[in-house]
Amino acid sequence: MRVLVTGAAGFLGSHLTDRLLAEDCTVLGVDNLCTGDLENLAHLASEPRFRFEERDICTPFDPGPVDYVFNLASPASPPEYLRLAIETLRVGSVGVENTLEIAQKYNAGFLHASTSECYGDPLEHPQTETYWGNVNPVGLRSVYDEAKRYAEALVMAYHRTRGVNTHLVRIFNTYGPRLHPSDGRVISNFIMQALHGEPLTVYGDGNQTRSFCYVDDLIEGIVRLSRSSEHMPVNIGNPNEFTILECAQAILDATGSSSELRFEPLPQDDPTRRCPDITRARTLLGWEPRIPLSEGLRRSLEFFKSRTGAGV
Ligand code: NAD
Ligand code: UDP
Repeated sequence: MRVLVTGAAGFLGSHLTDRLLAEDCTVLGVDNLCTGDLENLAHLASEPRFRFEERDICTPFDPGPVDYVFNLASPASPPEYLRLAIETLRVGSVGVENTLEIAQKYNAGFLHASTSECYGDPLEHPQTETYWGNVNPVGLRSVYDEAKRYAEALVMAYHRTRGVNTHLVRIFNTYGPRLHPSDGRVISNFIMQALHGEPLTVYGDGNQTRSFCYVDDLIEGIVRLSRSSEHMPVNIGNPNEFTILECAQAILDATGSSSELRFEPLPQDDPTRRCPDITRARTLLGWEPRIPLSEGLRRSLEFFKSRTGAGV
């Protein structure tokens, strides 16, 4: 199999690349490095089955014949997609269309990385794939949420009208090694703050919830979905739900830090709760997450210490 991975220098893209290489695929990774880090691919420097191209997927390109396209390119952390607002809308529209054209041209399978953000601030809990969501179309987060919702519509249209073998994964909050230490997501922020002995910045009252999935579990789910015959969206995430206060405590426990909490304003439209119903993934893919938060945090800590030199 020759596989194209967009967003390959990012957190999830680099792990997916490793997994595909371990399965004897040949991988072309592309990334414009707007939020990615070549350090995530440095260990592949002498891997003959891997090639990297720095490029923006918003400009049409032809990678040559490929059997599968994994489209992961997009800023993903709230501070980054707010900084890159127009770029996020473009990669979720023009960029997705360009990669769908590649899949169509080479009769390749296609998987798009969608998100639990499609549910917005959900009124249904936990969230099933049949829930249509509660999204502010003009709020700050709309650059990400609406790009992802448009992308899902585009993917389904290529499937329905052009017969492309597409897959849509709705990814819930995922963490692990290679999460960028300064990209502003909650797990990376709290770990870095704890390792530096700084206060953990809790936004709002910390009673909002998220459900955190360890990266290895997520990649397993994505790979299974890519090989399935399911074309409708599938939630992949860990249904164990934590408040942000509980998450802060878990990170204090994992690091042994005595950092205090500092409460800061809640960002606009920050979802109050989020938890995947993974019945569809369990039934269709025989998939469920295995790694609990405490174990995932332990594994992540090693990375944050070695990448940044913090807390060592
Ligand atoms: P990330 O920021 O680490 O990786 C995204 C990568 O895409 C980066 O390397 C970035 O440089 C690249 N990129 C962005 N725009 C590009 C463009 N125009 N052309 C080429 N490359 C471009 O984020 P991540 O957490 O690895 O997210 C990967 C995908 O998964 C994203 O599509 C994101 O929306 C989705 N997702 C992630 C999570 C999560 O919890 N990690 C949750 C839901 C959805
Ligand atoms: N959050 C927080 N402190 C931080 C970063 C994030 O309290 O330093 C909160 C944020 O307000 C949200 C949750 O943690 O409620 C998850 O935020 P993240 O940016 O990781 O992802 P989101 O799920 O909001 O896309």
